[in-house]
Amino acid sequence: QRRVGIVGCGQLAQMMAQEARPLGIEFSFLAEGGENTTCVEGLGTIVHASEGADIEELYKAMGSPEVITAERESVDVGLLRALEKFCPVYPRPDAFEKTQHRVREKTAINDAGLPVAPFRPANNYDEICAAVKELGYPSFIKSCEHGYDGKNQWRVNSDADLAAIADQVPAQEYVVEKGINFSREVSLIGARTADGKVVTYPLAENDHYNGTLLVSTAPAPHVDEKLQTTAQEYLSTLMNAWDYVGVLAMECFVSDDGLLINELAPRVHNSGHWTLAGAKTSQFANHVRAILGMPLGETGCDRVAVMINMLGVDKKPALQNEGVWSYGKELRPGRKMGHVILLDDTQDALAARIDSMLEELYGPSKRPA
Ligand code: ATP
Ligand code: MG
Ligand code: MG
Repeated sequence: QRRVGIVGCGQLAQMMAQEARPLGIEFSFLAEGGENTTCVEGLGTIVHASEGADIEELYKAMGSPEVITAERESVDVGLLRALEKFCPVYPRPDAFEKTQHRVREKTAINDAGLPVAPFRPANNYDEICAAVKELGYPSFIKSCEHGYDGKNQWRVNSDADLAAIADQVPAQEYVVEKGINFSREVSLIGARTADGKVVTYPLAENDHYNGTLLVSTAPAPHVDEKLQTTAQEYLSTLMNAWDYVGVLAMECFVSDDGLLINELAPRVHNSGHWTLAGAKTSQFANHVRAILGMPLGETGCDRVAVMINMLGVDKKPALQNEGVWSYGKELRPGRKMGHVILLDDTQDALAARIDSMLEELYGPSKRPA
């Protein structure tokens, strides 16, 4: 019996286990001591990190999985390295280490010969001001670590904006980025096996609300074949350079200067949830296939898919849709509670349905509270 261990127990772990069920794989989930595990209950063995006196005991409590993966970007890299003594850990701990720090991540992307927005590292407010002076307005200031859903970052459009954040940026590591005048944001999800086989999905176009992903559409409307090819080349280049194993997500800006990489996520990604109903193989199934060295599944889609996040709401929309995924989490303002997927033959046919779905979920404003 093949067993996969997942460090983490949230909705991404939940969907991995659900999607791999037809493959006959068993799962173990490593939760932090006292962490809420409702997302993965009934899907496998749940182990709390506090249960093992040492790593070997923890590994055994997890049922000695043949491979271990993680569902969070902010996973403890030291723990992954320790677990690597017992079985392969994919994606490799190195990939988590690179992507957990924005300057390391951008430097690694540049080292692979690929473009990102112009950036400067900064360690305190004075260095932030110097970097903004060089890069101009608008600029984005982001803490190097622990940022997600637009948290721990500031957009400054003017000297007044810059002055206003002086009290909010204690001395720590930041990256200052030139604001990119993008026409759209797109993301590419790909999977790679240890023996170097790579598959990629069609690009998704992403719309954010207050820094959090709200709607993803795939294949991305207005994307030509050239952009898709360029994105695929970027992602394959990175995965090959890092000898990457598993699913890697790449967020990009489509700008006048072409495609620029914004950031990477070494895991299944929210902008790939559309694959659950819209693609022949979901990103979750392909991640599990990739880390187990199984043949990767087809990534094509025949129709247009739209994924809408349920942020701070947990509903069963009555409107016609391809499915509602409710993660079973406790309701909190703004929290990702689930998502809905719509499918249709054309982008135009979907526009009105997206609108109605947003209204059903969020009321007349059609936007999360
Ligand atoms: P995620 O939840 O995707 O991990 P995050 O908190 O890591 O988000 P980013 O993806 O870096 O943050 O930025 C959030 C959003 O802010 C981007 O999707 C984009 O809309 C905007 N943004 C970030 N950096 C820039 C930039 N240099 N130029 C223009 N817009 C930007
Ligand atoms: Mg991020
Ligand atoms: Mg992002």
